Amino acid sequence: MEKNITKKQNAYVSEEEKTLNWDEIQKSFKKTFGSEVYTSWLQKISLVREYNDYLILGVPTRFFRDWIVSRYLDKILEQVKNFKITLNRIEFKIVEENNETNLKKIEDLNKVTEIKDSILNYNRLNPNLNFDKFVQGESNNIALSYSKKVCEDISRYNPLYICGGVGLGKTHLLNAIGLELQSENNVMFISAERFMYHFIKSIKKNDMVNFKDFFRKSSVFIIDDIQFLRGKESLQEEFFHTFNSLMDKGSQIIISADRTPMKLDRVQERIKSRLAGGLVVDIDTPDLELKVKIIKKRILEIESQFKESINLDDDVINYIANESKTNIRELIGVLNRVIAFSRVHNKILTTNDCKNILKDVFSQIKVITVEKIQNVVSNYFNILLSEMLSQRRSRPLARPRQIAMFLAKKMTSRSLPEIGRRFANRDHTTVIHAVKTITRLSEQDDEMKKNINQIKSLLIE
Ligand code: ADP
Ligand code: MG
Repeated sequence: MEKNITKKQNAYVSEEEKTLNWDEIQKSFKKTFGSEVYTSWLQKISLVREYNDYLILGVPTRFFRDWIVSRYLDKILEQVKNFKITLNRIEFKIVEENNETNLKKIEDLNKVTEIKDSILNYNRLNPNLNFDKFVQGESNNIALSYSKKVCEDISRYNPLYICGGVGLGKTHLLNAIGLELQSENNVMFISAERFMYHFIKSIKKNDMVNFKDFFRKSSVFIIDDIQFLRGKESLQEEFFHTFNSLMDKGSQIIISADRTPMKLDRVQERIKSRLAGGLVVDIDTPDLELKVKIIKKRILEIESQFKESINLDDDVINYIANESKTNIRELIGVLNRVIAFSRVHNKILTTNDCKNILKDVFSQIKVITVEKIQNVVSNYFNILLSEMLSQRRSRPLARPRQIAMFLAKKMTSRSLPEIGRRFANRDHTTVIHAVKTITRLSEQDDEMKKNINQIKSLLIE
């Protein structure tokens, strides 16, 4: 009895006890997210107020907030929960940075070099991602040949727009073009995300003049993953001006995206049509032949780099190429794993060995989409998909819905808001609630545990 009372009192933490150490948490952000994401975004978040079950965090702009919410919110929550288990929600508040005025004078003095240095830091081309290392195949033939043509004949195909799914070689090609052209041109190579980061930073510092100058003086402007512009109006505006002024002075522009210009939803029409106005080439998923070629080339590279021979026979190579279906990045990852294994065990591998080594990998990387989860879950519970997605709250519908949200969180890389949108535009807090509920139930309830496991195995089989 007494124990219970103490427990209850403890649930209400007094004002003095509410002391999360924000510096500690920041350190853990840096570890978890890596230093680039950390310095670009997370470092700028401050702790405004701490409550028992939620936090109010301060961010510099609305745009910043939206960005954090759409990309990092769930991971941030996970992270702070390590410091305080009772937290289940985070809210953001736009706050002015108060030490800014002090810094301002010094910043003014260093303005030009600062923007330059910070951009240059991310403008490095990777010397390994060159044309020699890029293997030609049916799926990338056209993209590769026009990438090379652009290098011979600047501004003939302008802009060159390369599109294709993730891990198919877009960044590799852009990088190769940059390497080829950098000795005789002022090459700017930047991801759209990074472009945005500098854009926001310049607005905050009231330093747009430098920003504009910096980007507009390049003679070759390469921008990667332009789909990041979607839904970001002011950024699109700025990009459009940069784009136009570069085109006007005859600079070559090369762009990559995960889809064709016309499929860029939430991008202004005039930008889409300018993007489509040059040459659009796409990269498709690789066929078996290309995958085998890439594996063989990669083996040769490793052999010459490490001066050792790698024994993988054709059966094994074919097996890897066949099993790795989605993209080239994955293919290379799988190959590395097999090679590492054969090195450690110093043996010639059979297809069967490979099967065992890769069993876990393939089940993890099998593409599981939110849509697939929704279908499997609604089938499993014998309800209509439309009912599961509807607004009705009766338990026979709500539980499967929550389970589907939970699995979407655990088994895909979608963020909470993205998952919410796929469930008939629900809010991310609904998804958080679902994840918590099902996590708890699957710990307490054997039936729930069994259901989840069965659904999981249906998804990965
Ligand atoms: P994307 O930018 O389209 O997501 P990347 O350019 O990052 O893809 O490619 C993913 C990985 O696959 C990189 O390591 C890249 O070097 C490699 N890769 C892609 N296509 C090829 C190719 N045709 N030949 C050799 N390596 C390739
Ligand atoms: Mg890329």
